[in-house]
Amino acid sequence: MKKDKKAVILFSGGLDSTTVLYYALSKGYKCSCLMFDYGQKHNKELKSAVKIAKTVKVKYSIIKINFPWSNDALTNKNKSVPVHKVLPKTIPPTYVPGRNTLFLSYALSVAQSINAQVIFIGVNAIDFSNYPDCAPNFIKAYNSVLKALKTKITVQTPLLKLNKAQIIKLGAKLNVPYKNTWTCYNSYKKPCMKCDSCKLRAKGFKEAKFNDPAIA
Ligand SMILES: [Zn+2]
Repeated sequence: MKKDKKAVILFSGGLDSTTVLYYALSKGYKCSCLMFDYGQKHNKELKSAVKIAKTVKVKYSIIKINFPWSNDALTNKNKSVPVHKVLPKTIPPTYVPGRNTLFLSYALSVAQSINAQVIFIGVNAIDFSNYPDCAPNFIKAYNSVLKALKTKITVQTPLLKLNKAQIIKLGAKLNVPYKNTWTCYNSYKKPCMKCDSCKLRAKGFKEAKFNDPAIA
């Protein structure tokens, strides 16, 4: 009997991870999504994630983790999300230390338990916020961790070398419901269009020559 292709998807409900989910489904993977409630200042992205997971009828779990020591602009309520004229070349204050390392470790634990062969994560290193845990050398290193743990699981990053416009074009082909994705670091009714995340998304839609259905 042919073994099921199974994957664990690190899924936030944002543009990138939603594209990755649709990509994995298009490749025939039976997907289990992991979402994280890690004390983000708002849960809009998480709500989007649940809505999308239900739409495509995949299994999902919401894992609650705590960063009681948090000192970053996404989880510390006393810190505001910065507005940059130009995207920073250094690690920005929205970087949550260790976040993807923790997420990948949860994914590894799930993948090993359910016999999934692949962990998908929607990191990309072209139009990104300069987070070190999204960079190619980090992913390579994490794959070495998986090997050292004597697993055959691999972390796959289909978006790693794509710019935002290419990601959006790929998603459009896969019918990704971008209207339901939430990218903004803030939690206003509409995306703020000022934070780094909104700016990267807007740049991508402009370069891809599509209108962003989420801001229509
Ligand atoms: Zn924003």
